[in-house]
Amino acid sequence: MKKLYFLLLFCCSFSLIAQTDARIYDIIDAVSEKRIEKDIQKLVSFGTRNTFSDTISNTRGIGAARRWIKSEFESISKSCNNCLEVSYQKDLVTTDMGSRVPKDAYVVNVVAIQRGTKYPNRYVIMSGDIDSRASDTMDYTTDAPGANDNASGMAGTLEAARVLSKYSFESSIIYVGLSGEEQGLFGGAGLAKYAKKNNWDIIGVLNNDMIGNIKGVDGVIDNRSFRIFSEPTNLTDDKNKVRLRRFYGGEVDGISRQLARYIHKNVKTYMPEMNPMMIYRLDRFGRGGHHRPFNDLGYAGVRIMEAHENYTQQHQNIRVENGIHYGDVIEHVNFAYAAKLTAVNAINLASLAWAPPAPTGVKIGGIVEPSAKFKWEASKDKTIKGYKIYWRDTTSPTWDHSRFVGNVNEFLLKGIVIDNYFFGIATVGENGFESPIVFPSATFR
Ligand SMILES: [Zn+2]
Repeated sequence: MKKLYFLLLFCCSFSLIAQTDARIYDIIDAVSEKRIEKDIQKLVSFGTRNTFSDTISNTRGIGAARRWIKSEFESISKSCNNCLEVSYQKDLVTTDMGSRVPKDAYVVNVVAIQRGTKYPNRYVIMSGDIDSRASDTMDYTTDAPGANDNASGMAGTLEAARVLSKYSFESSIIYVGLSGEEQGLFGGAGLAKYAKKNNWDIIGVLNNDMIGNIKGVDGVIDNRSFRIFSEPTNLTDDKNKVRLRRFYGGEVDGISRQLARYIHKNVKTYMPEMNPMMIYRLDRFGRGGHHRPFNDLGYAGVRIMEAHENYTQQHQNIRVENGIHYGDVIEHVNFAYAAKLTAVNAINLASLAWAPPAPTGVKIGGIVEPSAKFKWEASKDKTIKGYKIYWRDTTSPTWDHSRFVGNVNEFLLKGIVIDNYFFGIATVGENGFESPIVFPSATFR
């Protein structure tokens, strides 16, 4: 009798907490520190990967590097029954396009698409950079190993492809090596433009730029913290939307910020040993990264990176000066940490690609009423489990309260006063995976 009681308790408490998916833990475990180390070694071996470096040699320069990356994606594809569509995407960059362009050259990205079974034209994107630089951006011949900046992000992207290609997803995942980062974010701009032209429905861009350094210039050593940079609002919002924010809120609730919160929550759930820091800004103070050109065109995108940078080890010629060893060499990369941040990406790519599309036409009401109320468009996907309404204190960075409301397309949240919280809605798939949260874009009476 006692045993039965125990079993009963076990079953029910289990069903209450079964909000996690075992496959996500498998994905974390599958990420290999060793393979990441090997890939960074290989990328460093090309001497320099400056965007304007040699394209003919098979051992040195960006040409050799991108051909190797392409061949890696192709061999990953071979071992998953050709599950990746691998190609180059390129644009000509000319000297009149910026002060950091030493000569005309093609900026070539390497793109690998793992096509979604249900939503082939919806994409979640993980990016790293192919290119590196020496002290002088214009110098395309001096050694620039770029082990952390950004062979780490590139190696992580290759490794995520290896791990996730063993699964099939409802939406498409793109693994991409971008080029021309150091001279003006050209590769990201090229791919974002290509996406717009081809009407890609982008769920979000996870841009990885420097994911392997744990010893900061500030003396802090930390292999658990990392940063998720996101801009607060959408740059493409028109004047009217900006005006309405004064009355309805949304100053910290743009689509990139929701993506950052999604990643933050997923990491807190599945990788509790990690300390994700949401940084409420587009990028580091006054500096840039390859998520920005996607943000520019209205796509959600964040930068994922180490918490503590070391400036003597980025954008520096290899040298010793006053006893300080300058240069972005492989000795400074912590592969276990890079593997952790790769897992951060992989679990979020998987969760987003397994989740149904976010709700559309989300409206909120409840002015001078005791309860907040919501309306949204019913999903065309008939297999979804339903929707979840989230809310939080206006000062909170995270969605702290939620209620699953079933498969309906309106709801009255009794006793919750509209004035005192921010609200959002996510779609919940039959598999339990959730879309990013949508902040209401309109009101109703
Ligand atoms: Zn850089």
